[in-house]
Amino acid sequence: MKEISTKLLVIGGGPGGYVAAIRAGQLGIPTVLAEGASLGGTCLNIGCIPSKALIHAAQEFAHARQFGAGTSPLGIKVTNPQIDIAQTVRWKDGIVARLSGGVGALLRKAGVQVQRGWAQIEDGKTAVITPHDGGEPVRVHCEHLLLATGSEPVSLPSMPFGGAIWSSTDALSPDVLPKRLVVVGAGYIGLELGMAYRKLGVEVTVVEAAQRVLPSYDEELTQPVLEALKRSGVVLHLGCSVAGYDAQQGVHVRNARADEFALPAERVLVAVGRRPRTQGFGLEGLQLDMAGRFVAVDAHCRTSMRNVWAIGDVTGEPMLAHRAMAQGECVAEQIAGKNRRFEPMAIPAVCFTDPEVVVVGQTPPQAEAAGVEAITATFPFAANGRAMTLEATGGFVRVVARKSDHLILGWQAVGQGVAELVAAFAQSLEMGARLEDVAHTIHAHPTLGEAVQEAALKALGQALHI
Ligand code: FAD
Ligand code: NAD
Repeated sequence: MKEISTKLLVIGGGPGGYVAAIRAGQLGIPTVLAEGASLGGTCLNIGCIPSKALIHAAQEFAHARQFGAGTSPLGIKVTNPQIDIAQTVRWKDGIVARLSGGVGALLRKAGVQVQRGWAQIEDGKTAVITPHDGGEPVRVHCEHLLLATGSEPVSLPSMPFGGAIWSSTDALSPDVLPKRLVVVGAGYIGLELGMAYRKLGVEVTVVEAAQRVLPSYDEELTQPVLEALKRSGVVLHLGCSVAGYDAQQGVHVRNARADEFALPAERVLVAVGRRPRTQGFGLEGLQLDMAGRFVAVDAHCRTSMRNVWAIGDVTGEPMLAHRAMAQGECVAEQIAGKNRRFEPMAIPAVCFTDPEVVVVGQTPPQAEAAGVEAITATFPFAANGRAMTLEATGGFVRVVARKSDHLILGWQAVGQGVAELVAAFAQSLEMGARLEDVAHTIHAHPTLGEAVQEAALKALGQALHI
């Protein structure tokens, strides 16, 4: 077997692993990256990017259909809009291919040696990579091992993936659009993709075990999403569990009173969470400390074994691409001898439903639970001129600040396009901004960002436009 030695071996080429490898290469660390599937990992190939492409295509089609129905207040009329879903999927695949190729180019530029194949860990300093093209396996000896193996979808025992039962990966590449889709789970994936399918003209029903949609967010924030779901004709069964599927009757559902009923559907998207990828490649042999199902790490992303590091989804919540990337950069810099810790003030979360939902830092219930005396102010997009010109007057921006000194603790927003406000929110938290800092910053007019300034003004009792 071919043997190579390197300073750093990264297992997994998702946002965590590829960013770690690029930064390590930039810092002059000899680095090998093993990737068994495609560079870019879940995010780029079967996650963030393709889902946002599909959501955009669905939104464009929904506009066309509204124009076709002659109900647009803008006076735009279109005759008989159609969607060729095979072409949509090809367009989405083109974006994925460009980005995955781009990651390969960035890794080459940084001098990283990419080994395409599945890595099998032998010990904390050795792994064997078996190429999927049948080539000769390579044994890699390293000083530092970085685990960035990501996560995979959780399946339900009563409805294993395959055939009519879709994982998110299947839902991102439909060959045809089903007439009826049942979505199990009203979390990130269920609602992002469920809403997109509804816009594509599919009859969508969502079954959720909790009593609310997006149960990880507070109710005030998710109310506009709930209203939008109802308006669009998505049928919701909250507080329900699923017991199985058959092609004749569809999905068998049980409600809180234990009544059973069936929901007919040609396809079922199961989106009930993801689990870390920790098995099948020798990780168990390292006997690392675990945090539940996840690999336990400290504030340096160190595992319980010296010089074995872990980042991204395999290390736990929040399972988000930007967290994985930030951890990857942090680990590479530490291996290069820099004094770094992974201790962000906040990790932003964005749910790309329509309207979008953003959470950065503490929410009012979280501030209360932490025993902080806080001021909260909400500014509605209904009072924002730009929102009116975009037909996007639903939703609001909310700020949470410490009452004693006005230190901003958190921002939340719900509305069309609010994902792009995250940069301002996260910067204000990282920089320790106070309400006055944001309130006295000149925000360009007319922009949705003025709602951010107005929320800060309102918290100070000085709102101008409400
Ligand atoms: P991954 O991206 O999962 O990458 C791990 C890589 O390791 C994979 O490529 C895998 O093939 C490889 N690998 C695993 N084991 C081995 C082995 N033994 N040998 C070689 N290679 C191996 N997050 C966001 O922040 N924003 C979003 O909008 C968003 N949308 C999403 C939409 C969907 C449908 C899904 C499923 C996820 C979404 N996420 C989103 C989550 C995001 O994709 C993950 O948080 C992110 O990809 C985690 O990065 P990672 O590097 O930890 O792991
Ligand atoms: P999720 O945790 O967001 O939502 C899962 C939902 O399924 C929850 O509401 C839960 O109550 C429900 N549920 C669980 N078991 C159930 C059952 N048996 N029957 C009915 N409902 C059930 O998980 P997800 O939507 O699968 O997404 C996985 C992860 O991927 C997310 O947690 C997030 O980290 C990441 N992601 C992020 C984004 C984004 O950042 N925009 C988008 C998609 C995915």
